[in-house]
Amino acid sequence: MADGQMYVFHTRSVEETQALAEKIGRLTEPGDVFTLSGDLGAGKTSFTQGLARGMGVNGVVNSPTFTIIKEYMGRLPLFHMDVYRVEDELEDLGFDEYFYGDGVTVVEWPQMIAEQLPAERCEIVITRGEGDERTLKFTAHGRRYETLCEAIKHDHSGN
Ligand code: ADP
Ligand code: MG
Repeated sequence: MADGQMYVFHTRSVEETQALAEKIGRLTEPGDVFTLSGDLGAGKTSFTQGLARGMGVNGVVNSPTFTIIKEYMGRLPLFHMDVYRVEDELEDLGFDEYFYGDGVTVVEWPQMIAEQLPAERCEIVITRGEGDERTLKFTAHGRRYETLCEAIKHDHSGN
């Protein structure tokens, strides 16, 4: 699926980014996949922390860089992947078990495993603006994510 509906959100603080992500976390369903791209410090991990909170995960969510995949338990399982260190983009670490399982998967640095990503997914790109400003661009690959983004769009008024 090459194209998808796009949704753009602006935030002015880490709290705002996390509040947006928290709303999404509350609406997650089994099998949801979110990819997060953006430079170091863009807010990928901060976003994941908000999403986790919305899913009812208790405890600290931090960057899984050295473990590739971290699992948290909330209302649903949350799999947080940072595939930055995957050397061969075709190296199969059993990602499908996560993508097509009963949990929610967040992938930081998805371009490292581009060929292995599911066609249906919500692609999120975070870019920095002035100071604490961030732009979060969502591309909904699949109807499921259009529905999700529409719900957030209507909820996230003021943007
Ligand atoms: P990444 O995982 O993309 O490397 P992090 O989430 O670890 O990024 O770090 C983002 C940093 O930017 C944090 O220190 C956070 O407090 C700060 N920050 C400032 N403004 C924002 C914002 N609007 N959204 C997200 N993070 C922000
Ligand atoms: Mg990170």
